[in-house]
Amino acid sequence: MGEMKTSIPLHIQASTATARGARYSGDLPVARLRRVAEALTNDQGSVHVDLRVRKAPDGTSRLSGHIEGDIELQCQRCLRDYRQHLAVDLDLRLVSSEAEEARLMRECEPYLVTEDRLPLHEIIEDEILLALPLAPRCESPRCGGGTG
Ligand SMILES: [Zn+2]
Repeated sequence: MGEMKTSIPLHIQASTATARGARYSGDLPVARLRRVAEALTNDQGSVHVDLRVRKAPDGTSRLSGHIEGDIELQCQRCLRDYRQHLAVDLDLRLVSSEAEEARLMRECEPYLVTEDRLPLHEIIEDEILLALPLAPRCESPRCGGGTG
């Protein structure tokens, strides 16, 4: 294995990462994101991930960042595979109890940390799955034979 593409750990220790203001940046092949790969017609492509774990000025712990890349989807109209650009911004408030999670649900996006673990790949998968179009449509002029 080379030195690139391995800079996003599977999971990290929340407290240490927050205290250090840790930053994780790198490329993740879609094939490594199992649940995303299963949701797509193929596992080609990769996403660039840039995440930061930090203590915000207001004292809260946050996991924030950006996920971006080209993935391959199957157009539901013409059934061709096509390339779709995906860009997701995330800003999760790290909380340690369900009560806190419930209380914050309306004002931000809370993430309940259990056993001081942040499963980065799992979180990335969740964010991508939420961002996938429900009915993928390619932009090809040939798509659908002009009907539509
Ligand atoms: Zn199409």
